[in-house]
Amino acid sequence: MRKKIIAGNWKMNLTIAEGKQLVQDVINGLQALPHHKEVVFAPPFLQSVMVSELVNKTNNVFVAAQNCSAFANGAYTGEISATMIKNAGMPYVLIGHSERRDYFNETPTLLAQKVDQALAARLQIIFCCGEPLNSREQATHNQFVADQLRDSLFHLDAKAMENITIAYEPIWAIGTGLTASAKQAQYMHAHIRATIHAQYGETIAKDLSILYGGSCKPNNAAELFACEDVDGGLIGGASLVANDFIAIINAMA
Ligand code: PEP
Repeated sequence: MRKKIIAGNWKMNLTIAEGKQLVQDVINGLQALPHHKEVVFAPPFLQSVMVSELVNKTNNVFVAAQNCSAFANGAYTGEISATMIKNAGMPYVLIGHSERRDYFNETPTLLAQKVDQALAARLQIIFCCGEPLNSREQATHNQFVADQLRDSLFHLDAKAMENITIAYEPIWAIGTGLTASAKQAQYMHAHIRATIHAQYGETIAKDLSILYGGSCKPNNAAELFACEDVDGGLIGGASLVANDFIAIINAMA
């Protein structure tokens, strides 16, 4: 079944004390979530065990890792494996965020390896895609995003695809204050669903959750989430402020 998901990506922000306060404030302010709606916190690794313990008594609230290794285990100093993430109580992992692609040179092939590691560890994947500004200006954005999906996901079979959520995050909208209009977001989300439909068929495409990310705030969330193919959001800056994150969660009907 298609789920509604609001995920907060803290990136490299907040101390342990600040993270704890934020999670407690959000949980205290949350209305009970219906079974098809989830809230996900994606803190830095050092905070993730603490956050997992804080949320484990609240229905439909989960923790995601922001990254995982492309390797299973062994001599990879500084890396965290998908199995370790699962073992620490986190059911989700973000893969393919544009900051990882751009600043850490994560290639489509490396991302496909991370996808395989995450699935082998039985993690749910939030797979990020999205075009840079020049691609949108040259009207190549549909092909750009379809290529990202093909290059890192289309080696999977249909059963494995059931564990994938897509986050469409136009790079020109991340942390910039620029947001895709509801029309632009709906158009791309429908394109992503059609691309998945062409590869995997109707059931997988219909059940796929596609989140929007890119300067999603309390004042624009409701309009974005009202779009037929927008199933929630991956929220950066606004997820660091409890009242803003709660307002965005509440904007998802
Ligand atoms: C993100 O980086 O995933 C993101 C959507 O950031 P922001 O909401 O700050 O644009």
